[in-house]
Parts: sequence; structure tokens; C-alpha cells
Amino acid sequence: MAKKSISPAELKEEKEITKAYRKLLKSARYSQTEEDVRKIRKAFDIANESHKGVRRKSGEAYIFHPLEVAQIIAEEVGLGTTSIVCALLHDVVEDTSLTIDDIEDYFGPTEARIIDGLTKIEEVFEREHSIQAVNFRKIILTLADDIRVVLVKLADRLHNMRTLESMRKDKQLKIASETLYIYAPLAHRLGLHALKSELEDLALKYKAPQIYGEITSKLKKTSAVRTRFINQFTLPIRQELDKAGIKYRIQGRPKSVFSIYTKMKNQGVEFEEVYDIFAIRIILNVKEEVEKAECWKVYSIATDFYKPNPDRLRDWISTPRANGYESLHTTVMSPGGRWVEVQIRTERMDAVAERGLAAHWKYKDKRSDAFDSWMQRIREVLETSSSNPIEFVDDFKLNLFAKEIFVFTPKGQIRSMPHESTVLDFAYEIHSEIGNSCIGAKVSQKMVSPGHTLSSGDQVEIITSKAQRPKAEWLEFATTTKAKTAIKGYLKLERKKIIAQGKTTIGRAMKKYAIKRSNQNFQILSTFYGVTQPEDMFYKIGVEDIHLNRLSRLKVEDGVITSKPRRKKVTTLDQIMAATNGKKSDFVLGTDSAVNYELAKCCHPIPGDDVVGFVTKKGMEIHRVSCDNTVELLSNYGYRAVKAKWDSNETLSFLSGMIIKGFDRKGVVNDITKIISNDMLVNIRSINFTTENGIFEGTITVYVNDTNHLKSVKEKIRALKGITSVDRLS
Ligand code: MN
Repeated sequence: MAKKSISPAELKEEKEITKAYRKLLKSARYSQTEEDVRKIRKAFDIANESHKGVRRKSGEAYIFHPLEVAQIIAEEVGLGTTSIVCALLHDVVEDTSLTIDDIEDYFGPTEARIIDGLTKIEEVFEREHSIQAVNFRKIILTLADDIRVVLVKLADRLHNMRTLESMRKDKQLKIASETLYIYAPLAHRLGLHALKSELEDLALKYKAPQIYGEITSKLKKTSAVRTRFINQFTLPIRQELDKAGIKYRIQGRPKSVFSIYTKMKNQGVEFEEVYDIFAIRIILNVKEEVEKAECWKVYSIATDFYKPNPDRLRDWISTPRANGYESLHTTVMSPGGRWVEVQIRTERMDAVAERGLAAHWKYKDKRSDAFDSWMQRIREVLETSSSNPIEFVDDFKLNLFAKEIFVFTPKGQIRSMPHESTVLDFAYEIHSEIGNSCIGAKVSQKMVSPGHTLSSGDQVEIITSKAQRPKAEWLEFATTTKAKTAIKGYLKLERKKIIAQGKTTIGRAMKKYAIKRSNQNFQILSTFYGVTQPEDMFYKIGVEDIHLNRLSRLKVEDGVITSKPRRKKVTTLDQIMAATNGKKSDFVLGTDSAVNYELAKCCHPIPGDDVVGFVTKKGMEIHRVSCDNTVELLSNYGYRAVKAKWDSNETLSFLSGMIIKGFDRKGVVNDITKIISNDMLVNIRSINFTTENGIFEGTITVYVNDTNHLKSVKEKIRALKGITSVDRLS
């Protein structure tokens, strides 16, 4: 077979691919051994071969995308060979016939695991209708596995944002929103400042192109004036620094478009009124041992020339931020009467601030504590997290966007906590045992309750008591994920213990009456005691809500309960009737009844309800005992009341109503009616829904057999997403 000829255009493209590959190798500064280069080459060859013939929306060969992602990973995040290999291969399993097993064969288990994580995230994200919350959780979950998954994903997203131009308009908006909502905060949390800023700026470009264009052009127009100002402003400082023999460089970069936009929006001001459009950054080239002292020395020099605003001094050197950020910030008054922010930091701190994580690894030393403790916190949350992704994201998002406060232990140790943290949060931050037994705290010599909100600088001494136990109410004033998770965990465990206790108790009683402890019997007994599942019954027995003396009444054959479960009779009715009427026998409600009776329109009684009959001129009217009218009738016409009970041998349909409340969402009415008519085979008589401000309220009347039947309908509806309450109409 003749070899296919190559067109000049293809030849040119191949050359460009090779060029991009060479550039990548040059940027891979931690991949210098022959083995490293061989691995990267292999990954590139596999990716190039697998994506052959495929083009991106922009028209360029697909391989440019993984090459660019790997370039970001090597150059901008500063990661090593494994991450570069994974970046090159990040789309092959998703888009080509290669499998995870192939990757493992070619490279090894680490690469296979990372690609697997990336592919999974991709799968969830690419599904058009997927819930954002779930996606978000996936990312975080993989983070616990191997943080490189998240870093490659962030690089992938950055390149997609850089090339968003060729996408459809609606896709652009979706991707830009996701970037702002998920990826930029994630990058921030990982301390990848440069990446975060670029993601935000690009997202803004597509979300609000007009304002983005406006700010960029104004920044450009004012650039010359700014440079002149910065040169003048820094001149005396530079002279002093030179004299002191300090090695440094000065940057006068404007803030990101996005942060200027946020300031304009939050403060309701115009571009011209944002006073800190730029910050002056003095970056020192000094040894690590003396960096703190040197930074303060520069602070001293700067404030010799310009008066600082004491309220705006931020010492992130003594106490780095939770994401590892270190810097000394001050705002000083320039001769022209304008506030100027000056940031003082070392080259190491600057690298950490811009590139985050990777720089942390490079400068690995005791200062990476802050980052480690953050990672630790994420892990703790992940390991004990509830299974509900929405709840998880809510908890997590709160922490993600919250500002920090710093509080002190009695020994003077400092802890960073989210803004608005309470005493209880702090107690759990120290240790879950301390949280569990917290009864309050001494804050600045004053006693405060566990719900007290802490402020920065508070010295907090937690007071504990052995008798204390976490309570459900605590969830109302616990704000950190850690505290909430611990409390929920404790309560869940407590419930489990009670359930186990209840199960033992009923087990013993069943043994006494020769009832087998089978699932079938447990189910029958649950119905007998009016709960839907055995777990609830065990719990109620455990807290002594259910007493077991009625067990003796059951018919048992061969260890299996044979008597029909019946609702327990409420004694209060007997008591009321005894006081008002001397009749002994019950009036039986059924088709064979001797007297014509009617079910009251006010309370719609159904079999299973405790009922009472009232003799009227026409016959008899049946009310629920709990009906408001019953109380009135009994107190005024007690002599007309008759004991009544349902004929347990009949299955008839009775009309009953429910009132349903919840959050309005598309398809909710459909879901409810589907459950009632299709799943439960119940006939609906009428249905009426109204919506206001995203909250809906609906009334439905249905035909049911008895209270148990109605109860199971109610429970099915209550389990639907967004439903807050289902109540029987009274
Ligand atoms: Mn990709």
C-alpha cells in the first residue's frame, strides 16, 4: 500500500505540535532525568496517536489541548513528571478507546488512579443536566485521593477558559459560571492565586463582556499615569533599600479586573473611585531565617516616608492564612493624599502566593503548617461527611467563602477559624471530645454560652462537664463543618445505640411469648404499633414511647404472628364515653350497620381513626375524636354521643385530604400525582396548587382505605425532593 501523502498544511501543523512539545520539555524543570523525559515522551506519543484526526471547536488539532494543559501544569503550577504525564493523557480515556488498564500497563498505578479520577470528573461534568452540587463534591472527593487530580483539572479548566471563544454562547455562559462558582474558589483555597485571578477574569469576560471591556480599557488608558506615580512613590524607598544593601524587586501591578469589578459592585462606586486599583509589592531576596525581620525592616523604611493607616495593617507573616498565604500588608498615605497599599514579602512568599501548593512543596519547611492543617481539615470533613451532597456543599461552601478570624487558646496558641464561629465551633476545633462536653466558655474573663459568636483576638477557655452531651439544638449554632459533622455523627450514633437497646428489649419480650425474631414478625409488629419500619419501632421502644404489654394479645402460631395487626384503641375516648354515656357495646361502622350514619364533612374520618358518633334527627354523624367539633359536641350534647368503631372486615374507600408544602420546582406536581396514582394506585378526587415566592402549597383529596394507607401515601410524598411538610387536612 502506498504511503499517504502529507499536505503542506498538515506538515506545518506537525511542526507546530513538535514545537509545543519541545517547549513543554523545557518548562518541565523538575523532570530532568532521562527516565522523566522518556515518560513524558511516551505520554505525548500515546496522546498524539489517540487523538489523531480529532479537532477542537476552534479547528486546531486536539493534541494542542493536552499539550497546553501539561504546559500549565509544568510552568504555572510547577508540578513534576507524574502530573505532566497525566495532563497529557487527561482526555484519552474519556475520548478514545484507551482504558484505565492500558494506562496502568503503560505507566503504573499512580498515573492510572489520577487519570481515573479525571475521567470520572469529566463524565459527571459533561452530562448536560447534572446537578452542580454533585460535581462539586466529586472534585473535592478526588482531592482526598490525590490532589494532583484537582490540579490537572484546574489546568484543564484554565485552558478551556482561555479558548472559550470558539464555543457556543450558551456553553460559554455555563462554563464561565461553573468556573466562578467552583473552580476559582477551589484555586483560591489551594493558594493558586495567579490561576484563580485568571480564571475569574476570563469568567467575567464572558459573563459581563461590557463591564469587562470597560475596566480593561480604563486600566490601559491609566497605565502610563500609574507607572509614573509608582516610580515617584517608590523612589525614596528604593534609595533607602539600596543603602541598606537589601536585594529586592518592586512590582506595581494593578489588581485583577475581577477584583476591581467586585469592589465597584460591592461599594457601589465607579472605576475612578476605587482607591486601590493597584498595590505596590516589594519582593525581597533574602535568606529564609531572616525573612520576617527583613520584611519588618522594609515596613519601617516605607512608613518613615509615608504615614500608615493602623487599621489596615495585615500581618500574614506571623500568622499565615489558612491557604498558606504569607505577606505583610500596609496602607500608607501618599503625598498627593491618596491611600496606597504596600505589600512586603520575600521571593519564597511570593512564589507560594502565586503558585501555591507546588511552591509549598519546593520550600517545604515548618511554614507549610497552615496548608497541611487545611488539607487535614478537608480530609476530616470528607471522611465523616454525610451522604447528602447538597448538605455537604452547603456546609462546605460556607467555609469556602467565609473570612477568617483568629482566636487564642488559654496558653496563647493561635487558631484560625471561619468568620462568625461560635464557642462550640472552637471547642470542636480543639477536639471532638471537648466539643461534645462543652457547656460554655470564658471569653475575656466573662462566662458565655456555647452559642456565643467569637471575634478575632478573643482568648477562649472552653468549659466542659462530664455530664454534658451533644443535643440536636446545637446544630443551630454550630457553624463550622467540623462541629456540625461531629454533632450529627454523635446524634446518629446515639440513635443507633437506642435502636440496638430497643431491639434487645423487644427481642426479650418476643422470646417470652414464643414469637420468632424474624424480619417478617418485626414488620408485622411495626404495623401493630403504628410505625412504618422496624427501626422506628426499636427506637420508640428504646426511648419508651412504645410499651410492650400488648404483645400478650397477639395470636402466634409456630413462632409467627397470625393475628391481624390492629391500631391500638385510645383510652381517652373510653374515658370520655364512660363519663357521658353508659352504653357498653360499640356501634360498628360498616355496610351492615343498623342505623344510617354519615361521615362528618368537617374532619373526614377514615378507618383507623378513633371516632365517636352523635345521634341526630336524620341518624348518626361520625366525627374524629380529635375533631374540634367533637369537643364542643361532647361538652354540650354528651348524652347524644355513642361509642363507635370500624368494621375491621371491610375494605372500602374513604375520602381524605392532605395539605402539602414545599419549594417550588419544575415537575413537582407531576411527581406528587405520579406517586399517588401510579405508585400507590390511589384515586385522586381533587387537586389544587398555588405558588408564591418559590414556595408552593397544595391540597389534594384522595380515596384511601384507612389511616395506615393514608400514612404511607403521606410518607412517600414527604420523601420527594423539596417537600417540607405533608399534613392531613383536619
Ligand atoms: Mn480536557
